[in-house]
Amino acid sequence: MSVTFDRAAGFYDESRGLRPEVSELVADRVEGAVGPAARLLEIGVGTGRIALPLHRRGREIVGVDLSLPMLDRFRAKAAAAGLPPPTVVRADAGRLPFRDACVDAVLEVHVLHLVPDWPRALEEVRRVLVPGGMLLHAGGGAIERGSDSPRDQVMRRFDELAFAGDGPPRIVGASPRQVLDALVAMGGRVEELEPVGWEEPETYAEALRWVEERVFSSHWRLPDERWRSAAARVRAEVEAAHPDQDTPHPSRHTFKLTAIRF
Ligand code: SAM
Repeated sequence: MSVTFDRAAGFYDESRGLRPEVSELVADRVEGAVGPAARLLEIGVGTGRIALPLHRRGREIVGVDLSLPMLDRFRAKAAAAGLPPPTVVRADAGRLPFRDACVDAVLEVHVLHLVPDWPRALEEVRRVLVPGGMLLHAGGGAIERGSDSPRDQVMRRFDELAFAGDGPPRIVGASPRQVLDALVAMGGRVEELEPVGWEEPETYAEALRWVEERVFSSHWRLPDERWRSAAARVRAEVEAAHPDQDTPHPSRHTFKLTAIRF
């Protein structure tokens, strides 16, 4: 079963949102890669973190997601911004309800690590793309953060503790490497787009709060006791090492898209 985000609709944007200027830079990268006339499809569109700025620019973009609450949130954000309703469809990326060769580019941002049958989703991407079409892929499930990032440090330590030994796997779907290898085997040509980089302050207090509120999808599958004891241990370690957890630390963030052309 894919990991649906119904439970995350209320906190996704607060915990994973991008600043408006960063969203616009990401939309610039997408538009620069796909050109002005492309028909776009985003699989796992969620709350429209990537699609909403493109929709605002008047791009033709259809969003697919398994989670109705996430799609509802996308629609509500568009309405609040005075935009027309975005075109969204509740569907599985492994069974896209579209005919062959109907879009010029597919976007996939932080989705395939959640999809056990990710090869099938890639076949579907290939099927709906026109010949010469393109997939824009951002794998790994999270924005990259530098080693100066409190969130990165807290998450890494939590994962070391919680997923050690006989714990559940951290991801149920594909790693970025697996996705790229499979796409190359399907005949795709890979090109890294210019990354979007920015600095943003983070605090240890917030990083601990996200872990304790269990907002990250890899944590949802952990047995409660394993999650609770790892969270308590990380808190104790952070409190010992960083007595002032509310101090903001400027942290480097990088968002990377890879274009795969067929
Ligand atoms: N792409 C969006 C973004 O970057 O903000 C959302 C990413 S969120 C981490 C992953 C989304 O993929 C969730 O909304 C989840 O419901 C959706 N999802 C997971 N498995 C899916 C599948 N098999 N088909 C369609 N959507 C799926």
